[in-house]
Amino acid sequence: IHKKNICILIEDVTDVCHYQGQLQKALHELEQMSRIDGLTQIYNRKYWQESLDQEYAKAKRHSKSLSLIMLDLDHFKSLNDNYGHQGGDVVLMEVTAQVSKLLRLEDVFGRYGGEEFAIMLPETDIAGAVNVANRICKHIANLNFNYQTQRIKVTASLGVAQASDEALSHEELITHADKALYQAKANGRNQVFSV
Ligand code: GH3
Ligand code: MG
Ligand code: MG
Repeated sequence: IHKKNICILIEDVTDVCHYQGQLQKALHELEQMSRIDGLTQIYNRKYWQESLDQEYAKAKRHSKSLSLIMLDLDHFKSLNDNYGHQGGDVVLMEVTAQVSKLLRLEDVFGRYGGEEFAIMLPETDIAGAVNVANRICKHIANLNFNYQTQRIKVTASLGVAQASDEALSHEELITHADKALYQAKANGRNQVFSV
């Protein structure tokens, strides 16, 4: 009499599926987080620059206009000195939240440096971008920030440039907007300058 050995393996894969789902979710969240600036919750410089690369190429391919706004908060060093770094942080967070509300869904808003921000506006010519920049400039100057018992006010200077049809690289576009920003500062701050 032969004995037959039968081995049955029953595995419950519910757990595996569950963990795989969680892993996917965690990876997705990680990817989102790697694009976002921790303080202001807008795009960080790296992701913003990558987006500019892509949009710039797209605009060239389809002969569409694209403009850039560089924004720098005025006398931010003194603001920090007067209200403390935490007061400065509150202003950075609230300014970005307010500016975000003035932008279109297609516009890409990023934190370029400490108190410097960059906005890319696809399918927008210089006149349109200057309009947006002026609206942002006025809006920021009218804001009041409550910090502890104090009321803080801040202004911004903005530089605007447009990608032209000539062979202007996206780095040069940033340089142009930066130069315009520098001019807005030199002209007295709390204003827009375009090249
Ligand atoms: P200007 O009008 O010429 O731009 O003057 P400014 O004082 O704003 O320019 P400056 O570039 O000399 O100073 C920028 C200041 O921004 C210095 C730095 O301490 C502050 N800053 C940079 N990042 C942060 C941040 O994350 N939080 C706070 N609170 N301050 C920051
Ligand atoms: Mg500044
Ligand atoms: Mg600065």
